[in-house]
Amino acid sequence: MSGTRVAVVGAGISGLTTAYRLRTLLGPAAEIMLIEGSRRLGGALRTVELGGVALDVGAEAFLMRRPEALSLIEELGLDEQLRHPTSVAPTVRAVGRTMALPTRTMLGLPGAAADVAGLLSAQGAARVASEPTMPLHWEVGRDAAVGLLLRERAGDELVDRLVDPLLGGVYAGRADALGLRATLPAVATALDGGAGSLLAAARVALTAGRRPTGGGPVFGTLSGGLESLVAALVAGAAVRPRLGRPARGLARTPHGWRLQLGPAGEEEHLDADAVVLAVPAPALRRLLADPLPAASAAASRVEVASSAVIGLALPRAAAEALPESSGVLVAANGPLDEQLSVKAFTFCGRKWAHARSAEVVLVRASMGRHGEARVLQRDDAELVDAVRADLAALTGITATPVATVVARWGGGLPQYAPGHLDAVAALEREIARSAGLAVAGATLHGVGLPACIGTADTAARRIVEYLADRRTASAVRGGVDVPGETMRP
Ligand SMILES: Cc1cc2nc3c(=O)[nH]c(=O)nc-3n(C[C@H](O)[C@H](O)[C@H](O)COP(=O)(O)OP(=O)(O)OC[C@H]3O[C@@H](n4cnc5c(N)ncnc54)[C@H](O)[C@@H]3O)c2cc1C
Repeated sequence: MSGTRVAVVGAGISGLTTAYRLRTLLGPAAEIMLIEGSRRLGGALRTVELGGVALDVGAEAFLMRRPEALSLIEELGLDEQLRHPTSVAPTVRAVGRTMALPTRTMLGLPGAAADVAGLLSAQGAARVASEPTMPLHWEVGRDAAVGLLLRERAGDELVDRLVDPLLGGVYAGRADALGLRATLPAVATALDGGAGSLLAAARVALTAGRRPTGGGPVFGTLSGGLESLVAALVAGAAVRPRLGRPARGLARTPHGWRLQLGPAGEEEHLDADAVVLAVPAPALRRLLADPLPAASAAASRVEVASSAVIGLALPRAAAEALPESSGVLVAANGPLDEQLSVKAFTFCGRKWAHARSAEVVLVRASMGRHGEARVLQRDDAELVDAVRADLAALTGITATPVATVVARWGGGLPQYAPGHLDAVAALEREIARSAGLAVAGATLHGVGLPACIGTADTAARRIVEYLADRRTASAVRGGVDVPGETMRP
């Protein structure tokens, strides 16, 4: 589509996929601009080389049960790099014990009490077993904080030892503040459908979740690291990204949209027929404040959490002491817990065969939960020391790392609080009324890579449809006002 100009703001997986999809749909003649505020592409996708091994210090794997990430990888010709975790199982650490992580649960919510009993005290297991006998007053469409609802019905132990660590791993958030409908949608749907208890709803959700893919691998990654996606998307999108140009303002013009870019004092304007915003909620809130205050208000309902990933390359000899697990999720500190800083360790070579090395043993740690910014308010060396101390406490390993890396993710993960879906619906309703504007990203329908890719695909298609309609309307009017032609600054 010659003469068409589309700006994509934000170059994480969502913005990159949007730019790529726009290119495949609009063809080589369209002008697609990719605007990124930071100095690097990829957002939460970042791969480093540590001790000679590729290590993802942002997202490290994607869910295979949804099609979007796998399809994109195949489309980009990266499927030869596709790898799956080994069969080594993960563990969870709570009340001073490291235990097997139950496998048959929905983010810790079991379909049967027996599936989590090994993790709980006799009393805690009895509480879970009694949950189906409690009357449930569920109104269709209701939302609730996962942790609070579960505490009330199944006791604290299930939340503290399992659900909270699992949700902390995905959202860097706390179970008591995350909403059931957005984080466990299949459970909410089963409750709407008449399931008589949370366990019954989990049973329905677990059975439904098994159907589409049968027994295939649940997770995948790329042997060269997930950042391989970034280069492939940029090449496929045929764009020259503009780095270090944060978008600061957005305004409607008679023919499209105008972005204000750049640091204070160096502002420039960029006009486009259409704009896709693929930025985190705080940036969405700021950019939408003038043109769409109601959408901005909806975006402001989504808080974000900060976290950090710390990688250690340990001398090979450390492998001897490494537990026979793919990693350990650590429960947040309670009265009976050790005071650990780390919320999860991945023993990379145990989890991924391609991450094994003859020279080093890679350990990846993550830290930081919503509302606990203090844990991260230390310099990099202190974070590495804290990780080493926790590793020593859990495994006895005290070896000095041969290399380390610290990646900080300030505001990297949106918090899906109760009512999140309403906030997103309000945001999307406002955006849908604004011709030539779309949003994509982790704020919307899931923080995982497949969900982000899904929102990008939808955003790109929406824009292409709008441009096609506009072109048709312009042709009917006799060819005046061809989108983009009148728009050059
Ligand atoms: C540490 C960590 C581990 C994770 N692990 C996994 C995992 O294993 N599997 C999984 O599926 N998901 C994982 N996730 C979640 C997933 O990686 C993210 O939800 C996803 O990558 C978000 O992509 P995005 O493009 O929507 O946003 P981002 O990656 O946040 O990208 C947004 C981009 O917009 C830019 N930006 C912000 N404001 C502006 C502005 N005003 N102007 C221009 N640019 C701007 C930012 O600099 C950034 O590059 C993880 C997330 C984190 C932080």
